[in-house]
Amino acid sequence: MKLVTFAQADGAPRPGLLQDDSILDLSKLGFADTLDAMGKGADALRKAADTPGQSSIPVTEVRLLAPIQRPPRIFCVGLNYRDHAIESKMEIPKVPTIFLKLASAVVGPGDAVRLPSMSKQPDYEVEFAIVIGTPGRRIPADRWKEHVFGYTVLNDVSARDVQLATSQWILGKSFDTFCPIGPAIVSQDEIADPHNLDIRLSIGGEVLQHSNTRELIFKAGELISYISAVTPLQAGDIISTGTPAGVGLGRNPQRWLRPGEVMKAEVEGLGQLTNPVVAGE
Ligand code: ZN
Repeated sequence: MKLVTFAQADGAPRPGLLQDDSILDLSKLGFADTLDAMGKGADALRKAADTPGQSSIPVTEVRLLAPIQRPPRIFCVGLNYRDHAIESKMEIPKVPTIFLKLASAVVGPGDAVRLPSMSKQPDYEVEFAIVIGTPGRRIPADRWKEHVFGYTVLNDVSARDVQLATSQWILGKSFDTFCPIGPAIVSQDEIADPHNLDIRLSIGGEVLQHSNTRELIFKAGELISYISAVTPLQAGDIISTGTPAGVGLGRNPQRWLRPGEVMKAEVEGLGQLTNPVVAGE
């Protein structure tokens, strides 16, 4: 299943299931939004989708929005690909480096990322993101899948000068529009091995990041176990697993996002997340 949030002309966000070229409107089946849908579980969604006589809306008549409009929490993992830790001139971590990205920064597929005038070093980071479905605390590493609804693409846009001015990264990664997610939350049954997915980011046809999730230092089970030992995980929480090498910060010469560019972030099986870059305030 591909769980989405969409809007028609009236603009109200509604939950849906993307099925080939059409969308099944879950708001007509008693689901308030995608958080509600994930809380009720994949089986409830499958059952609703199989009810005879459903009407679908052609995907050309809707606009896809961020699949979760306001995730409860967005946990990010720093330096979780070996090559990216090296290019950032940081040590390979022995415990996961977890920071947060504010949910107010979330935007959806096609939305503009606005570059703040405060930063001279705006940068991109394609990431494989895990979306929690079933809540849980102190989740054993080998039971992580029981708590995951699915996966999505997240672009952890970062103002490097603001981020690295201090040891705390939250603000440099939380400017408005700095958290594109989507286009859909793909349910975990559609992804045979989440630790073997090609991941890449390109701008204007130039591939700037290209790796595979098998390169992750801390894998899904370790991350979910570690975070849930501290705070119970909730439906809709996102764990973004980190970015591979090739970010602007690590390039020689360094390169920063510019107005007019279009970022295309993709993870195998999860689709493409495309966002234009514009000048902000
Ligand atoms: Zn990141």
